[in-house]
Parts: sequence; C-alpha cells; structure tokens
Amino acid sequence: MDYLVRFRQGNFHRVAHYVHEVNGVVGVLCSRKPKPAVGDQPQSGQWKLVSVLPPGVRICLICQKRKQKLDNPLPARVERELELLARWDARAADLQREKMLVIYRQKQSSR
Ligand SMILES: [Zn+2]
Repeated sequence: MDYLVRFRQGNFHRVAHYVHEVNGVVGVLCSRKPKPAVGDQPQSGQWKLVSVLPPGVRICLICQKRKQKLDNPLPARVERELELLARWDARAADLQREKMLVIYRQKQSSR
C-alpha cells in the first residue's frame, strides 16, 4: 500500500492519504478527481508517493473510512445477519458473504 504525503522543507506533513487511480491519475483516496495527485507541487510543498508511512504521520480520516469500505463494503446490518447465520451453519454463512460481497462491490462501482 502506498501513501501520498506532502513534503516541505525536509518535513512531512502530519497527515498522509491512501491513494487510488482514476483515469490514469494517481491521487488521494479521499478525492474522486483525485486531487491532489502524485507530483503535484502547490505552494505548500510537494506531494510524494511513499511505500512506508514516515514516523509521526497518520492517515487522513476520510481515507481511512474509504479504505475500510473498499476492503469490506458490507454494511453492519449485513454483518450481523451473517454472524447469526454462522452460528447455525458456518459454511452457508461463508457462501452468503461471498454473494453479498459481489453485490455490494457492484453497487460501489456503479456509483
Ligand atoms: Zn485523505
């Protein structure tokens, strides 16, 4: 996983972002455009892609939420249903989870 951090005068900004690619542009996950993108050089420093998060730098909250949703798009309600089902039949719950993941990933990409 790569991170986009703002680099200025030898220092990293305290908040980094996850990245995603939209139309060939790699930029922050919290923006759909995505803006800022890799290589952007605003007044406030340069945006750089790093593969290791520098010490003392944390991930932006919106990026964290987006990432969570991407990793697991199932709503809490569906998770609870799967939990209940798993008590009776773990295998059925696994199959159902696969199905739901396909459905919710499709929903996400059609948005
Ligand atoms: Zn962000």
